[in-house]
Amino acid sequence: MNPTNPKDRLEARQGDITALAVDAIVNAANSSLLGGGGVDGAIHRAAGPDLLAECRTLGGCPTGEARITKGYRLPARYVIHTVGPVYRGRPEDRRLLADCYTNSLDLAREKGVRSIAFPAISCGVYGYPMEDACKIAVDTCSAYLAVHDLPEKVIFVLFAADALEVYRRRIL
Ligand code: ADP
Repeated sequence: MNPTNPKDRLEARQGDITALAVDAIVNAANSSLLGGGGVDGAIHRAAGPDLLAECRTLGGCPTGEARITKGYRLPARYVIHTVGPVYRGRPEDRRLLADCYTNSLDLAREKGVRSIAFPAISCGVYGYPMEDACKIAVDTCSAYLAVHDLPEKVIFVLFAADALEVYRRRIL
């Protein structure tokens, strides 16, 4: 077990997740895994058509679960596709969003991933309030890193400056 504070292995940055040269980036996908808008569209555009071809073989993914593919033309070696909940203010939204993080980290660890980047899953068209989603993201990843040596580093990539501030405050 890693003796350092797990929060030292978390970082928040502003930018485009498709540009990151990490071992794995996480895609906020929909349950078909056949592409969509937002970060999903950006990842498919940057990775090229072979990503969609591999996704077609997977047969979709239920909410809260995750699937892994290669990164193709992305600088990242792998893409981990996870399906966040559509926010409705139900108690299970929280659990499903936490499951997205834990299941993505499990897949990453199985592949020996040392660095992984997450977008703000469910915070776009799925409507999850950023403050609540950030708590779940940071606390779930922090608890995971406290008991696992891999991944060594988790990077939260935020598109907007206000979202970055929310994450930075939570990580401190
Ligand atoms: P969801 O359907 O899970 O809500 P979205 O893709 O609509 O997913 O949005 C998730 C978050 O990702 C939003 O906060 C959005 O601003 C952000 N986002 C969109 N494109 C990118 C990108 N290229 N890199 C990082 N974050 C992005």
